[in-house]
Amino acid sequence: MWVREHSRKARRLAFTRGLEKDRQDCYSDAMSFDVRTFEWNFCPTCGARLAMTYDGEQPRPHCAACTRFFYSNPVPAACGLVANGNALLLVRRAVPPCLGEWSLPGGFVELGETTDEAVLRELEEETGIRGARPRLIGASTQPSQLSGAVVVMGYVIEEWDGEPLARSDVSEARFFTRPQRPPLAFQAHRDLVAIYDALESA
Ligand SMILES: [Zn+2]
Repeated sequence: MWVREHSRKARRLAFTRGLEKDRQDCYSDAMSFDVRTFEWNFCPTCGARLAMTYDGEQPRPHCAACTRFFYSNPVPAACGLVANGNALLLVRRAVPPCLGEWSLPGGFVELGETTDEAVLRELEEETGIRGARPRLIGASTQPSQLSGAVVVMGYVIEEWDGEPLARSDVSEARFFTRPQRPPLAFQAHRDLVAIYDALESA
């Protein structure tokens, strides 16, 4: 039991440190996005207060009325790497977090779609670029103030057409050559661009 308690404490500490890192993850003071970290407190189905209950592995929030456990899992997201020659498509965020900072185009996966579908949908919503043949090159997990943690999957978009336009949630969308690239707001995106660059130069 001590081991279980100890490892939970260690995990929580690592998580909190991750959040602190996440807060420093934007380059602009313009961002102001202070929300409480996600927690299960009440049952979203019946509204009853949840009680920490042992599920055979560890105590988790549980609704006795619905006999259901609630799990805090990372939220899946997908982002696209769209290349025009040696230039990569980046978008400037028009929404918090990291408002005004640059990132890869992408967003959260909706229930009912695949990650491949999500990356193509987000790409078109944000930039107007219609993509096809997304190819998964890697994934990176990043602590997130909003949802606890995010798993970001990176896809190279093998085929695309259209001119980049700033659309939903974006104030600018344009291609940057490698030396011109601005700093990216999210560590997960920096990780995925590093994977992309390594593949390109291999
Ligand atoms: Zn319930």
